[in-house]
Amino acid sequence: MKIIKNEPMKNHTSFKIGGTADEFCTVSSKEEIIELINYAKGKNMPYFVMGNGSNILVSDKGIRGVVIQISSNFSNYEISGSMINAESGVLLSTLAKAAQKNALSGMEFASGIPGTLGGAIYMNAGAYGGEMSSIVKSVTYLKNGEIKKIGDGFGFGYRKSIFADLGVVILEAELELKEGNPEEIKAKMEDYKTRRTEKQPLNMPSAGSVFKRPEGYFAGKLIEDAGLKGFQVGGAKVSEKHSGFIVNAGGATANDVLSLIRHIQITVKEKFGVELETEVKIVGEF
Ligand SMILES: Cc1cc2nc3c(=O)[nH]c(=O)nc-3n(C[C@H](O)[C@H](O)[C@H](O)COP(=O)(O)OP(=O)(O)OC[C@H]3O[C@@H](n4cnc5c(N)ncnc54)[C@H](O)[C@@H]3O)c2cc1C
Repeated sequence: MKIIKNEPMKNHTSFKIGGTADEFCTVSSKEEIIELINYAKGKNMPYFVMGNGSNILVSDKGIRGVVIQISSNFSNYEISGSMINAESGVLLSTLAKAAQKNALSGMEFASGIPGTLGGAIYMNAGAYGGEMSSIVKSVTYLKNGEIKKIGDGFGFGYRKSIFADLGVVILEAELELKEGNPEEIKAKMEDYKTRRTEKQPLNMPSAGSVFKRPEGYFAGKLIEDAGLKGFQVGGAKVSEKHSGFIVNAGGATANDVLSLIRHIQITVKEKFGVELETEVKIVGEF
């Protein structure tokens, strides 16, 4: 295992923001994950598990302790009938493509979400009417050194799961899809891709939608109606293309993003009486 000291987290987040992690390691097996957690515990250090870093804002002071990155080195998967059994570091886009090739429908919604399977289950990621909750059959996770597999009780809700509350490491999952027509599946994925490219600032660093959808509203519309489209604090800017996104317009710090988030929350609350809650996870030392 290669443990890197003082690793800049901006190199591992889609926001391209974040101070250094004391220690950082990309793992390639369950054994390595267990070993790394024991290593952190032995040194009395906290640890933080991440996937592709597409839904986190890491503080400018960085992360104390060990960051365990579960991504491409832990990403094997197998398809058997309508089931996919995969390690948690595989990208959703990879699984969605594989499902399409195998004439399996149900993952089209996930093809453009830039996260890992583990991050997507943790967040119950979703788009275009689909959600991880509709395809997850079982999850294998690590808690207190023990590996457990569960087939229900995932606690899925809007952008949440039981795994966040349990504080566990998601290791593997089984997804159940349905037989479908590969051409129709492909067409659906293409359609979602076009819609994303048209509506989202995919050419700029971001963490996707910053806020959860408040009941009865759309965060982006509220922010736009509050006159905040294009509003900027330092290098953090409300996207001109999609007001629900904050983009790193160049050299943004985590503090810039946090100040902008607070400004948006206060303004939207004042104008419309709606509380905006962050979807992006804010992590690290403040
Ligand atoms: C351009 C863009 C578009 C996006 N569009 C969407 C969208 O349409 N729908 C949507 O839901 N999201 C979207 N997102 C947000 C993001 O891609 C999803 O939330 C994704 O599921 C996060 O996965 P990740 O691997 O990047 O997780 P990370 O950002 O690395 O981590 C997110 C959380 O999951 C935890 N975590 C990650 N892996 C594990 C694991 N193996 N075990 C335990 N905990 C873990 C982390 O501790 C953290 O709390 C978008 C982001 C971007 C940048």
